[in-house]
Amino acid sequence: MKEPIVGRIHSTESFGAVDGPGIRYVVFLQGCPLRCLYCHNPDSRPCSTGAEKTMTVDELMERILSYRNFIRSGGVTLSGGEPLWQPQFCQEVIERCHANGLHVAVDTSGVMDPQAPQIRAVLETADLLLLDLKAMDPQLCRRLTGQDNARALQTLRLREELELPVWIRHVLVPGYTLDFSELEKMAAFLKHFSCVQQVELLGFHKMGEYKWKELGEEYQLYDTPSPTSQEMAQAKEIFVRHGLKVH
Ligand code: SF4
Repeated sequence: MKEPIVGRIHSTESFGAVDGPGIRYVVFLQGCPLRCLYCHNPDSRPCSTGAEKTMTVDELMERILSYRNFIRSGGVTLSGGEPLWQPQFCQEVIERCHANGLHVAVDTSGVMDPQAPQIRAVLETADLLLLDLKAMDPQLCRRLTGQDNARALQTLRLREELELPVWIRHVLVPGYTLDFSELEKMAAFLKHFSCVQQVELLGFHKMGEYKWKELGEEYQLYDTPSPTSQEMAQAKEIFVRHGLKVH
C-alpha cells in the first residue's frame, strides 16, 4: 500500500479573507528557503521546528471539508512558509480539493524551480497563483531575500504559457522596494502578461518583529518605517497608469 504523504503545517486559518478570492481555508506550510528581511513569520522558515503539526492529506481534507459550506464561494489557499517546498503534499491536496469542487490558490515566492516535475505539476493545476514578486532588480532581490528573482520570473512565464491566472503581490519596503523608478520597471514588465489579473501592493509593517526577538535572530529593519498612505497611493498610481488592476 502507498505510504500516505505527510505535510508539515505551521498553522491554519478557517476564515481567511486576504489570501485569494472569497472566504478561504488557508493552510500555512512549514519551511521556506528564503530569508526575507521583513518576514513577519520567521518561525515558519525552518524546514522543521518540532513545533509544527504533521498531517496526512486525509487529515487535512477532513478539516477543510468541515468548512465546506463557508468556503464554497472562496476555496482553499496553500501558503507558507513556501508551500512549493512540499510539492507532493500540495499536489495531493489540490487534487482532492478539485474532486470536492473547491478552488485552490497557491501563495508562493516563486523560489522553487518551476521546471522540476513536482513543482511544475502544482503550477499546472493550481487554479490561481498568488506570486509574491519580491523585486525586479536581481541584486536588490538578493539583498532583500537571499536569492535573486530568476525562478519567480520563470514561474510567471510558465503560468502565462499555460494561460492560468496570477495575482502578483509586492511588499513595499522603504529603503528597498519603495523605489518609484523600480516600480515603473515592474509595472512596465507586468503589463505584457495577460495572466496577471491584479497586483496587490502591501505596505511593509513590523508586526512580526517580536518573533525575531523570540527566535534570537537579528532583525535588520528596526528603523525602517511603514510607507505613508501618500507613498502607497503614488505606487498604486504607477501600476494603474500601466493598465494594471491594483488591489
Ligand atoms: S518568502 Fe515569506 S515565509 Fe519565506 S522568508 Fe520571505 S516572507 Fe518569510
